[in-house]
Amino acid sequence: MSDHRRLGRELELFHSDPLVGAGLPIWLPAGAAARHAVEEYIREAERLAGYQHVYSPPLAKREMYARSGHLAKFGDDMFPPLSSGSDMDDHDEGEPLMLRPSLCPHHAMVFASRGRSYRELPLRIAEIGGMYRAERSGVLGGLSRVRAISLNDAHVFCRPEQVGDEVALVLGMIREAQSVLGFAADGYRLSLRGDSFLGEPEVWDEAEGLLRDALDACGLAFEEAPGEAAFYGPKIDVQISDAAGRPFTLATIQVDFAQPERFDLAYTDSDGVKRRPVMVHRSVIGSLERLFAHLIEVHSGAFPAWYAPVQLAVAPVGSDQASVAHAFASGALRAGLRVEVVEDGSLGSRIRGAVQRKIPYVAVIGAQEAADGSVSLRLRDGRSVPAQPAASALSHILDVVATRSLSL
Ligand SMILES: [Zn+2]
Repeated sequence: MSDHRRLGRELELFHSDPLVGAGLPIWLPAGAAARHAVEEYIREAERLAGYQHVYSPPLAKREMYARSGHLAKFGDDMFPPLSSGSDMDDHDEGEPLMLRPSLCPHHAMVFASRGRSYRELPLRIAEIGGMYRAERSGVLGGLSRVRAISLNDAHVFCRPEQVGDEVALVLGMIREAQSVLGFAADGYRLSLRGDSFLGEPEVWDEAEGLLRDALDACGLAFEEAPGEAAFYGPKIDVQISDAAGRPFTLATIQVDFAQPERFDLAYTDSDGVKRRPVMVHRSVIGSLERLFAHLIEVHSGAFPAWYAPVQLAVAPVGSDQASVAHAFASGALRAGLRVEVVEDGSLGSRIRGAVQRKIPYVAVIGAQEAADGSVSLRLRDGRSVPAQPAASALSHILDVVATRSLSL
């Protein structure tokens, strides 16, 4: 494994600038293209699993975080309030705004936006959203630990008896996502309560039991970690490690009885009685920052074709083939590929350059290929594919990308 910071710089995936500030990396075009592909994948996987997506703002009144318990239990990790309210209008009543440390309260407000029936449960609300952590500058580095976090997040509001199935559904999505992205987690950890927690011990026992049962039902080996739970509930952690062998939590599933209580969430049950839902907080791939720190390291920057920043480079052998090369590239672009025509320098240096940039496919077009409408492919792994009709080369690459295959 190589350090993602070095590869991130070499492959121009992201940039950290002292003028922006520590822990605030910018995703450069190549990194943004790869991230966009992964975001599309996860939104699709969530949609197929019955999740509904929302957008919510990355800040809210301090009062909301007092209500959720974040201020009391998590306040040291939050940035100070943004405004005293002196120049705000009357509706805000001087209440300062805070950058959010999590998306949970906003999603609780989605549930509370109207009356809810038991028929709507489980209600699965998802978002890839920004949140902020006042991390000390000493612990920040590259993408693995940042102050502005883009989290693949969702909250499932359900009846207590639905929790087991929902957790199992998420565990399945987690395993599927890892297989499609091309990595395997080090393992799973069941984080149990410590000395400081919201709610009653019996309720915690029940939630911890539900998570333990779901892990067992999925046949997953896990270790138990007392004292590592979130303040509002126990959690399953998906554990990975970086190039230096340091362990990180990538994604979590948490069962929470406390926030529904604090926000007075309720649904009307089949007998007409108002009941409280359970809130399951879950992420499948964690934050895009930490995920990509990991993906860059496990793949040494050579991402599977479906999320490679540039999927196809087109190299005309000479200037006579330039117009044919541009026409082929333009067809590939319209077919949905991320494609570039590489024209500067010798053919050998252009192919080497594409391989160094970890571009999976280079299509070479010489006089013969231009004349008969074919292309020769050079693969990132060193293989060459003899000239074939341009359309069949393109359809092979499109198929690899559409099926999110790990092989080229
Ligand atoms: Zn949450």
